[in-house]
Amino acid sequence: MKPGPPTSKKKDPTEFQPDMLGEIPYAIAKYAFWGGVGTLIFCVIATIFLMTVANGDINKATTIANSVELMMKGMLIGVVCTVAGSAWLFWEEEIMVAVNLGGAFVLFLSSSILPTAMQMAEPGKNVGVDAGYNALGLAGKIYLGFAFAILIVDIALRVNQRSKVGAKKDSLKYGKGVTEESDRKNVFMGKCWQLPYCRKFVREKCPIYHAQRTCWRELVGCMCEESVIRAAMENKPVSKEALMSGAAIPRNTKLTDAAKRERCKTCVIYNEHQKHKYKLAMPMVIIGYVLVYILLRVPLATGINNFISKGSQALTNASAGAVKNVETGDAFTQFAVGAAVLMMLAYTIKIVEYAIFKLKI
Ligand code: SF4
Ligand code: SF4
Repeated sequence: MKPGPPTSKKKDPTEFQPDMLGEIPYAIAKYAFWGGVGTLIFCVIATIFLMTVANGDINKATTIANSVELMMKGMLIGVVCTVAGSAWLFWEEEIMVAVNLGGAFVLFLSSSILPTAMQMAEPGKNVGVDAGYNALGLAGKIYLGFAFAILIVDIALRVNQRSKVGAKKDSLKYGKGVTEESDRKNVFMGKCWQLPYCRKFVREKCPIYHAQRTCWRELVGCMCEESVIRAAMENKPVSKEALMSGAAIPRNTKLTDAAKRERCKTCVIYNEHQKHKYKLAMPMVIIGYVLVYILLRVPLATGINNFISKGSQALTNASAGAVKNVETGDAFTQFAVGAAVLMMLAYTIKIVEYAIFKLKI
């Protein structure tokens, strides 16, 4: 009887697998996230409902204030679970930060805009309604705090990662597998031969190095032109004068300058140069925004106040007075200015990343 093909041993589904361990935090995060979102939405709706009941019947206000306290605890648990779960599940997704910030803003503003839209009692006139304002406001503030913490950590990690890696390795065509040379110092904003991908055996015979030029300016270099490598391999003698004057730098007449520039964009050497540009640009952007905050804090606060007052006035007029005017306190305005500057900073960083690593300017 012929031996049959080897049969693969079937896995027992009840048997413990090591990769199950990786599934456990994921499952916890998934349940935390969806449970948190559900709890948060339920508690916000229930709080608003309880506020309307207290608003309609002042005799129930004290009982309702106690119930709202329970809802507030639910909202806080919901906020923590939503933020922690979404951060774990969707950390790489840029939309995660935006959705958390958006949700936090809605909750934060709900304590001032939503109750006025529903003709609630003014603060201080009904303990039940006041408890609702406090609960929504507190949950909104905590949610915003977490959402901004995520935004700051996200910016810091992305800047750090970009400074180390630059463009994605897959987008590189020239010198992708080349490792850094230990004999080269990584000179900040240096020329190609001052960067770690300049290989010693090529450099010694490289006309670009001897002429103290830069390959991406000459549009020819050791990663893209065979003749540069061949000169190093063949060890051909070249006159010192030719090397020093740059006359020995090979010229490729088959490609246009635009095509050669495109070639540089996918080269590991040029990518290293771009990383330096990024490291230079980042502190400038951050210092720029610190100055914007210091110098323009007052006009920005005035602009935000005017914007909110005009919007609120327009809403009051449109609803024939049903929606009351929203008053913005100083603390709210200062917070809004800080939030606006932080958001602008986040998007400026994205634009800088796009310019340096995608457009390769
Ligand atoms: S072209 Fe290459 S080998 Fe020549 S100096 Fe520049 S990095 Fe070094
Ligand atoms: S592709 Fe550009 S950066 Fe890379 S070696 Fe050639 S000239 Fe230099």
